[in-house]
Amino acid sequence: MALRFYNTLTQKVEDFSPLEDNLVRMYTCGPTTWNYVHIGNLRSFTSQDILRRWLQYRGYRMKHVMNITDVDDRIIQQAAAAGESIYDYTAKYTAAFFEDTAKVRLQKPEIVCKATDHISEMVDVIEKLEANGCTYLSEGSVYFRIAKFPDYGKLSHTHFEGQKAGARVDTDKYDKDDARDFVLWKARKDGEHFWDTPLGAGRPGWHIECSAMAMKYLGETLDIHCGGVDLIFPHHENEVAQSEASTGKLFSRFWIHTEHLMVEGQTMSKSLGNFYTLRDLLDRGYAPETVRYLLESVPYRKQLNFTFEGLRSAATAIERLRNYRLRLKTSRFSEGLNPAVEQRTAAALAQFEAALDDDLNTAEALGAIFEYVRETNTAMDGGDFLAGNLDAALGLLARFDSIFDVLEPTVAGAALTDEEIKAKIGERVQAKKSRNFNRADEIRKELLEQGVVLEDTKEGTRWKRK
Ligand code: AMP
Ligand code: ZN
Repeated sequence: MALRFYNTLTQKVEDFSPLEDNLVRMYTCGPTTWNYVHIGNLRSFTSQDILRRWLQYRGYRMKHVMNITDVDDRIIQQAAAAGESIYDYTAKYTAAFFEDTAKVRLQKPEIVCKATDHISEMVDVIEKLEANGCTYLSEGSVYFRIAKFPDYGKLSHTHFEGQKAGARVDTDKYDKDDARDFVLWKARKDGEHFWDTPLGAGRPGWHIECSAMAMKYLGETLDIHCGGVDLIFPHHENEVAQSEASTGKLFSRFWIHTEHLMVEGQTMSKSLGNFYTLRDLLDRGYAPETVRYLLESVPYRKQLNFTFEGLRSAATAIERLRNYRLRLKTSRFSEGLNPAVEQRTAAALAQFEAALDDDLNTAEALGAIFEYVRETNTAMDGGDFLAGNLDAALGLLARFDSIFDVLEPTVAGAALTDEEIKAKIGERVQAKKSRNFNRADEIRKELLEQGVVLEDTKEGTRWKRK
């Protein structure tokens, strides 16, 4: 069966292939860099990491763009409170974002672009919209006139009957003709950062940012646009309106939205005291790959309920897989190849791939791997797993880890030096001499976790880095 994803635009699971040959042109709404990344944000970004890894697994190349929202109301307020420019203020959170996302092993998108570097591209799109008669000016700000885009609502599947143009139903500070109209360009306000442009002095609205950067790097029609479900309305609906009203073309073929992360069944919020950044969890001693595993374990279209118990189970699950891999690498199997095990390995791989092809069903993919581990552990206990079965089993684990990426432990600090490795080997020799074989095994395992493989020979212990 083909690779398929749920498309918010059509509300159907649809077969996916990119418009152009082998290249997937994908856009992700990136972070607003006014704070450290929290586990809710990371849920969305991790699911997009799985998506891009799976597309690559299936032979596609990625052109993935992620924006950095480095100007918005909160940033302006916080930077002012800290007595810093918006550039200095956001630079440290942008750097922290990439440090944190690297820790949970997110592949960096091919293109990362900052809103503040693309003001002229935003002005260009707004000017096109002006030329198409889709805008109006009010108190120095430029607005998008929804009445000019009859398809408004098609992404979020919202029907707007009953809301008449001209009716004021909110208390927005700016004057709009229709409650749904949204700002493209905000007139300068005292004390706020602004840019002098042909549209007047001011700053861009949030939505125009993404339309302008997505189209600059990916062309007028993207293959995939991603984000959390909270962005469907109004952000993505407005992106569709602006982009399509300026080009007359479909803006994105697929819209893939990640469901929310909840904490102990509640919305995560600072006021409830259940708000966690990645840094909070690492400070409590959890490994980044444990957080990654937990975020991956629930398919992206289901709500994920974060609990500390869940985090502990994630650590146990990773441990089980690592022990299994260690058993494969360190056991001596009898010669030969057991065709039944060989078939079982091929079936597990097929199940794993089918699950991810099916709208990235990560839970089912994990289920296929764990069932395989359970059965082949039993086969090993019974002597039915033979030396000839080893490569395929290790190959399956490698494929699994090319997507889930949890098997290699995060090494605190730098890798071990040669001297440290030799010292550990010396300690192991001593442990063996005093017949403390448990300790000797532990040292072998510790070194393996740090990427060092030991081989005992007549001449003594040899070692190499994996
Ligand atoms: P922001 O930094 O607020 O612009 O958000 C970055 C991304 O995180 C967006 O795609 C949001 O939809 C997503 N996001 C924010 N909160 C959550 C949450 N609790 N669960 C899942 N995704 C979230
Ligand atoms: Zn966006």
